[in-house]
Parts: sequence; C-alpha cells; structure tokens
Amino acid sequence: MDASRTLVTGVEILNNPRLNKGTGFTEAERDALKLRGLVPPRVFTQEAQQQRILENYGRASSDIERYIFLTSLQDRNEKLFYRTILDHLDEMVPIIYTPTVGEACKQFDRIFRRSRGLYVTANDQGRVAEILGNWPERDVKVIVVTDGERILGLGDLGANGMGIPIGKLSLYTVCAGIDPKHCLPIMLDVGTENDDMLNDPLYLGLNQHRVRGDGYDALVEELILSIQDLYPDAIIQFEDFANRNAIRLLEKYRDRARCFNDDIQGTAAVSLAGVYSAARIQGVPITDQKLLFLGAGSAATGIADLLVAAMVKEGISADDARRRCWLVDSKGLVVKSRDGLQSHKIPYAHDHEFLPDLLAAVNGLRPTILIGVSGQSGAFTQPVLEAMANINERPVIFALSNPTSKAECTAEQAYRRTNGTAVFAGGSPFAPVEFDGRTFIPGQGNNTYIFPGVGLGVLATGADRITDDMFLAAARALADHVSESHLATGRIFPPLEEIRDVSAAVAAGVVNVARQQSAQAPTTPEQMRALMYVPDYSRSN
Ligand code: NAD
Repeated sequence: MDASRTLVTGVEILNNPRLNKGTGFTEAERDALKLRGLVPPRVFTQEAQQQRILENYGRASSDIERYIFLTSLQDRNEKLFYRTILDHLDEMVPIIYTPTVGEACKQFDRIFRRSRGLYVTANDQGRVAEILGNWPERDVKVIVVTDGERILGLGDLGANGMGIPIGKLSLYTVCAGIDPKHCLPIMLDVGTENDDMLNDPLYLGLNQHRVRGDGYDALVEELILSIQDLYPDAIIQFEDFANRNAIRLLEKYRDRARCFNDDIQGTAAVSLAGVYSAARIQGVPITDQKLLFLGAGSAATGIADLLVAAMVKEGISADDARRRCWLVDSKGLVVKSRDGLQSHKIPYAHDHEFLPDLLAAVNGLRPTILIGVSGQSGAFTQPVLEAMANINERPVIFALSNPTSKAECTAEQAYRRTNGTAVFAGGSPFAPVEFDGRTFIPGQGNNTYIFPGVGLGVLATGADRITDDMFLAAARALADHVSESHLATGRIFPPLEEIRDVSAAVAAGVVNVARQQSAQAPTTPEQMRALMYVPDYSRSN
C-alpha cells in the first residue's frame, strides 16, 4: 500500500506498519503526508536503514532476543522487515520460523508485546463471523489456523501456539511474495491440557481444559463457514493440530473448502522431493525403495500416502507401493496382527512378524530410507545408523522432528555413524559438517519450500479445492530445482537464497495440474515471479 494514495497522514502513517517508512520518507512525502517534524530530519535509503537494523540485530545475544527484535520491526515497518529477511534468508528464516519459533511459542505469553492475528475461542460460538469482521482487511487470501495442540514437536502449548500461524504467514510473504495485507493468522483457542499454562497467571489463552467432541466440531464448522462467507477466496491452512483432529478435519473439509493441512500435505511434498533427490544420488528409482518411518502420526502417513501416489504414477500398483512403506510407532512395528490400530495406520499394517523396536525393524526389513517423524530426540541411535550403513551403500536418513532438540539424530551423527555415506536431511537447519576431509551440506526438509508456492499457485488458478495432485506437482517442481552440483555435495534441497524462484516453479507446477483454471491464469515461473510482493519503498504494493 502506498501512503500517498491513501487519506492517512501524519502520526497515523507512522503507527501503521504497512505504510510506515520511518526515516525513509522522502522530502516530498514528508510534505505531502504531513510528516515534517514527526521524523528526524535526515532522509535515509532503505539500505541505510537496514544497516541500523543489522547493527542492533547484531547486539542481540540470543535467538529469542533476535526473534523479539525482528517481531518489533515487523510491527513498525513491514517493508523494512521483509526486505531485511529477504536479504538475509539463511540467517533470519531460522529466527522467524523453526527452530526459534518453537522457543518463541513456549515463551509467547512472556515476550508478548502487541497482538497480531485473530483469536477465536470456545466462548465465541455464535459470533465467529462477528469476530472475523473485526479484522481490518477485507481482501484476505491466506489464513493459517491452529488450535495449538501439537506445536512442532513440543506438544500442547494452547494459545501460545499463535507464534506458528504468524510465522508461517511471514514465510508466505518472504518465500512466495504473498502481500502481507492478504494474510490472516488465527488461533482457535479451545483451552489447553498444559498444566504449566493453566497454572500460569500470565498465560494469555482461555484458562480451561480443552473443549472436545461436538462443541469443538461445531466451533470449527462455524469458523470454516464464516471464512467462506466473508473471505470466499481465502486458502485455509490447518497447522499444528494434534493427530486426533488433523487427519479428521482434513478429510472432513478437503472436498468442502479451499483448504489443506501443511503438517500432512506440505510435509509429504517436501519429503517426497527429498526422496526424489536422494534416489538420484543412490541411482535407485523410487519404485525400488523401501521406506521405514519412525512415528506413525499425521506426518508419517501423510508422507507415505503421497509417496504411494508418486510410485503409482511411475507405474506400480497402489498395493505394491504401500508394501514399500513401513511404520514403527511407540509400541513397535505396525503389523496386521496388532489390535486397535488407528485407521490411518491400517493401510501400512502389513503381514509380517511383530518387531518390538526400531533397530529390530531396520535389521528385519532392510530399508533404503529411514524417516524420523516421531518427536523422539536421539531415536536414531548409533546401532540404528550403523545398521542402515551396513545395509545400504548410500543410506538415506531424514530426521524431520522439530525443533532441533527433538530431532531423531543430528547431521553430524548421521554422517559420522555411517562413515560419510548418509544422504541426510533434518526438519530444522543443521550447519555443514566436516568429516574425513570432506564438507557435507545437510538438507532441511523444510515445508517452506512447498506451502508458499502452493498457495501462490492455488490463488493464481482460481481452483476451489487443493488436491494431492497439486502436492505431487509441487514436489516434482522442487526436486527439479536441485542441480547435479547440489547433489554432489549431498545437498538434496536447493539453497534458501533461491526460495522465490523455487516458489515460482512450485506455483507454476500447481497451476498446470489444477482442474479448474481461469483462461488468464499465469502458467510459467516467470509469470509467477511477476505476481510477487516486493518489499521496496519504490514499489507501491
Ligand atoms: P503426531 O503426534 O501425529 O505423530 C507422532 C507419532 O510419533 C505418533 O504416531 C506416535 O505414536 C509416534 N511416537 C511417539 N513416541 C514414539 C516412540 N518412542 N517411538 C516411535 N514412535 C513414537 O505428530 P506429527 O504431526 O506426525 O509430527 C511428528 C513430528 O514430525 C514432530 O516432531 C514434528 O515436528 C515433525 N514434523 C516435521 C516436519 C518437517 O520437518 N517438515 C513437518 C511436520 C512434522
């Protein structure tokens, strides 16, 4: 938004982060907008302002302080915030999102300065539309909603989970250039089972146990219907719902709303892209891989389901493809003979003797790829990693649990314990590892490579549903972006600096498989790039 084209002037502009440029207002703008005297006399370019930001950022002594600093910049000058992040992606994306956002959510009620987004609570049944109407923007295009019950691998953080929708929407803007004015974070606060929060006088959310059952479902239904009524074009991204609701809500709404679940479908697509790249390194087609998952929740079965769809596209039957995917949960190998399995695990419960733990499963099944989505820190033990290396020339190890403290192993452990043969990706970023005179660059199976581009593509198509085919196309587009020289260093995802090009390619992939398309829909990555918000003062977006 350009302040010169609005009726807002003076202090009102300075208090509006979307319009505020601080010391960056030109002499002419200062006259036209009645800002003279309200800002210091010297005019700074955005680059010079960024210099001041970086100096102050450099003085912060911990990641959480860096998070607080960047959040306050976002609250006062949005363009400077996004310009700074875009110019320092490797350093700052891990601050505004994982892993730091995990700590920020844990401390959300302590570091709280200024409200962002909407809170819809269990007390609001019957007036959800009214609350949505309080949001100042009418042209909402992307909504990220959580109920805070499974925040990263940290469990139930209640209303403190608001840091997740806020962070994800910042990534929509950073990575795919979705204008921040189109983004709406929502916390669906139905209570918490987290005693620390219930007993904390500064906790910001409803001080009650979680509403479950019909009351919960009615609130979600009212929210979805109200969104469809007020913001008919908006994409709804479900985020960090506990397994008990994540899969169920996706099944309930995927054919009724323009929605998806990033933990299930975004994770699946980024993991599939990682598998495509790892398969190139191994020289083994995906239809010949055997995958073993530690964890059998929404992430694991989401990844397995998309892998099966990808294998079917490459010519094998769905049954054969499912037999290539195996799950280990907290009780051991998921097999047909086990009683009381949750329905999402049943397609992967094969006829096989029960094996009690991960090591037994690795030795018994001889997988080519091991994927950790269990939230169990250190579960990829030395014997597990050594066994993977004994079985495979290039064992593929994805330790996807977030934040870093929950990872099944570190990058260093993966490379060392496989004698440098592992193809590794983490869920959080890991620094390059020196081993045996070589430098390994760990991949990050970061959903950031997928969901912003999917969002951009869906908005461009006019499609009213978000399909698995779109996520398959997104995974393919991401994998195609990884060059041979990246693979040579063990890198199975592109560098973050290329994220806007990646998102443009993902968006183009999505548009090209959308069933409903307007004739004017942009179809090439170059056209997608042209749609992106650029956070420069010279631009009027
Ligand atoms: P979930 O709660 O649905 O599933 C967790 C699963 O782990 C359950 O099946 C549970 O039985 C299993 N589990 C728990 N303890 C175990 C143990 N000791 N041994 C084996 N299995 C055990 O959660 P989810 O949505 O599937 O997410 C799981 C993890 O994956 C989280 O840590 C999350 O941060 C991570 N994740 C990462 C990404 C990413 O990196 N792109 C995306 C989504 C989720």
